[in-house]
Amino acid sequence: MIQLGLIGAGGIGRMHTDIIMGQIPGAEITAVNDISRENMKKVTDQYPSVKVFDDPHELIQSPLVDAVIVTTWDRTHEEFVISAIKAGKYVFCEKPLADTAEACVRMMNEEMAAGKKYLTVGFMRRYDRGYVQVKEAIDSGCIGAPLLLHEQHRNAHPTGEKHTTDMSANGALVHEFDITRWLTGDEYDTAQLICPKSTRNADPDLIDPQMVILRTKTGIHADLEIYMNCIYGYDIHCEVVGEKGTASLPDLSNAMVRGDGVRGYKIEPVWIDRFADAYAAEMRDWVICVESGRLTGPDAWDGYAASATAEACTKSRLSGGEIVKVEMIDKPEFYD
Ligand code: NAP
Repeated sequence: MIQLGLIGAGGIGRMHTDIIMGQIPGAEITAVNDISRENMKKVTDQYPSVKVFDDPHELIQSPLVDAVIVTTWDRTHEEFVISAIKAGKYVFCEKPLADTAEACVRMMNEEMAAGKKYLTVGFMRRYDRGYVQVKEAIDSGCIGAPLLLHEQHRNAHPTGEKHTTDMSANGALVHEFDITRWLTGDEYDTAQLICPKSTRNADPDLIDPQMVILRTKTGIHADLEIYMNCIYGYDIHCEVVGEKGTASLPDLSNAMVRGDGVRGYKIEPVWIDRFADAYAAEMRDWVICVESGRLTGPDAWDGYAASATAEACTKSRLSGGEIVKVEMIDKPEFYD
């Protein structure tokens, strides 16, 4: 039985807890830490065997914990990830790996100094059936070489920490930054972030929606929309246009309903429902990796690449929408 310690018992921390306790027989949550007593209590009320730690670093060191899950706010990830690597424990960290690319470099340096990969980043879309099918279509050659991607990421409203303008790229679009690299197998050359007219439904200081155009090193272009207050639901689209065909995310497998003068499919209200299967598959895969001592999921380099791309987007936004270079360090052999 793999014993897991959870740091961050908010929305996604408790969702991972339910998956581990309910769907993964080879693993259990044994320890929890959070600055919110109320959120820790929600975990222990449901799972009384889970031990509460007031100090996250004590949790990491505890013999009750074989591996660590970090689901706190973005800017706090680095401290816990580095502490877990120093303790020689595998660590799963929610996306974004950090709120700056520099912090990601520090985590990579720690891992390289330890001489072993310990870190997995929560880019769960790589486990979504639809995205896997799109990747299979590309890899099989049936749509030809990818040329363009059209992607949309819409939330009814932001959830979790207060959403700022930077977080549309840093916190939300990092999913698209990662999945586009994964689908195309290419790194980014440039990024451009454009701010169209803002919705009146967002906080007055939030620029929403935003549009990003990425160009990869081989010249593939991806246009991305991020819209955090679209009101109508959680809605994700991705279409890859190739030299001789296209591949798109399928509509969800919800029933097609005719009624009230409408024929259509239910749109999931929030991310937890849309990607429920992907979150479970991601966690099952990570537990297998921890058991076998060989990590295969998104790694620190993937987390770094997404954060470096987010930084380029912010730079572009602050310049009024100029095309800017995505600045990245050379890839260490360790991550090849
Ligand atoms: P959340 O509901 O606000 O939960 C975060 C929890 O961490 C809260 O209980 C918060 O306490 C606690 N916390 C903050 N700083 C801490 C610290 N230094 N030490 C211990 N606990 C701390 O947010 P969430 O939606 O679960 O998001 C958590 C992380 O998951 C974020 O990085 C987010 O980007 C990521 N996420 C990923 C996905 C995905 O699709 N993969 C989806 C959602 C979120 P308080 O409530 O007292 O502040």
